[in-house]
Amino acid sequence: MATGTHTWSCPTCGRRVPRRMGTCHCGTTRERAEAVAAGGAEASRAPRPASRARRPSRGRSAPLPRDVKAILAGMALVAVAAVGWLAVGPRPEPVAPVLGFVDPGPPPAPTPAPPPTPAFKLPWWK
Ligand SMILES: [Zn+2]
Repeated sequence: MATGTHTWSCPTCGRRVPRRMGTCHCGTTRERAEAVAAGGAEASRAPRPASRARRPSRGRSAPLPRDVKAILAGMALVAVAAVGWLAVGPRPEPVAPVLGFVDPGPPPAPTPAPPPTPAFKLPWWK
C-alpha cells in the first residue's frame, strides 16, 4: 500500500526508495520490504485488541519531569524580566562612537565678516 509507482517505501527507516534501487540506504532489500508489507497488511486485517489497549491515550500526557519544569520556569522568568526591562528600563544612551568617529554636529553659523577696507583710497589717481 505504501509502495508508489516509482518508489517503494522502506519499512525499517520509512524512506522512499526508487524502484531501480534494490536496497535501501539502511540495508533493507526490496524483497524484504515487500514481505514485511504483505505481512503487515495481513496483520492489520486481524484485530489486535491487546496492542490497542496498551496504546497510551493522546488526550492525557505524562507529567513533565522536574528538570523540564525547572527549564520552563526559568524561561518564563527570563521572559517576564525582559518585558519588565522593556517597560521600565533606562533611557537609551547616545550611541558610542565607532572607530573613533564622533559626529561634531552642524558647523557653527558663520559670523558676518566686516566689509574689507581697502589699503588705499580708491580711486588712487584722484
Ligand atoms: Zn531503509
